[in-house]
Amino acid sequence: MVPRGRAGLALALAVVAGCAPALESRDFARGAVRLDLSAGALPAPVTLTFLGVGGWLIETPRTRVLTAPLFSNPSLWRAGFATIDADTAAIAEGLARFGAPDVSDVTAILSGHAHYDHLMDVPWIAGRLARDARIVVNTTGARTLAPILARWDIDPSRVDDVSDAAADVNGGGRWISLGPDLRLLPLRSDHAPHFAGMTLYDGERREDMPVPPVAADEWLEGQTLAFLLEVLDGRGGVALRIYVQDAVAREPWGFVPAGTDSVDVAILVPATYAEVDWHPEAVLENTRARHVLLGHWENFFVAPSPDPAPVPFTLLPDFVARLRRALGGDDGRWTLPLPGTRVEIR
Ligand SMILES: [Zn+2]
Repeated sequence: MVPRGRAGLALALAVVAGCAPALESRDFARGAVRLDLSAGALPAPVTLTFLGVGGWLIETPRTRVLTAPLFSNPSLWRAGFATIDADTAAIAEGLARFGAPDVSDVTAILSGHAHYDHLMDVPWIAGRLARDARIVVNTTGARTLAPILARWDIDPSRVDDVSDAAADVNGGGRWISLGPDLRLLPLRSDHAPHFAGMTLYDGERREDMPVPPVAADEWLEGQTLAFLLEVLDGRGGVALRIYVQDAVAREPWGFVPAGTDSVDVAILVPATYAEVDWHPEAVLENTRARHVLLGHWENFFVAPSPDPAPVPFTLLPDFVARLRRALGGDDGRWTLPLPGTRVEIR
């Protein structure tokens, strides 16, 4: 429960933030960005390449993983009223264009929930390009993918339902190895309403879908997860912590367990931030993130672009103003990347 006083203050903040100036070109990162965060603990840089929407290619010295990208981008009309499907040409072009031309050695594709913008393009990538990758999803995601796997020759054992491994702010959960120097802790999270308090396509699947989904409203959310990734230094220590959020959540959903050491980089979502209180303040307080990368901020109802417009229904300048305040006005602590931006962490 959020006390009334805080809710009122959040509303007041939102009203003040409503005056935020428009973003300028210099507010967006492009090309190569370098962050010095590991204090020499990393034997080689870790890179995070923004592929657009929820997609990131995360490369540690010895492991490469993807968070689920979307390139098919059905129009708002199609998503609302017609059938949708993965556009395989758009996926191949998008991966190559935005910095992931070869994903053949990717060990895992992570998706925190099962809406189409997080999962629809994954089976083709896993079946045709990243043939050894596990698909790390929630239970509903696994059940939604079940009838699609045969189409792309994906062994069902590659689908890894990690819902039962999820931790929360009180602890619990189970670490999952993604490679020789990378491990993952799923976090029980939540999904903010899309607009005006309404969440589209919520609900869970208790059985495998009998046939592949053909409409957006068949891609049900399930229990949304966030992820804590730890890059290991090979000597039993953690060289870097990366927090990955793929939907805005109400506190304390999506929090890392209390007592977790501070996160170095948090990937946070601006889209729909105003539908909950205290985003991003609450998750920043919980993770103590030293640097914030913003993903899933662009309009994904039009074709992918290297210079996209913000997603409808979200006032991105207001979110950025609020993030700036939460980070004490330090513009060295956040990055708003254009698709294709490659963030190198040393
Ligand atoms: Zn969603």
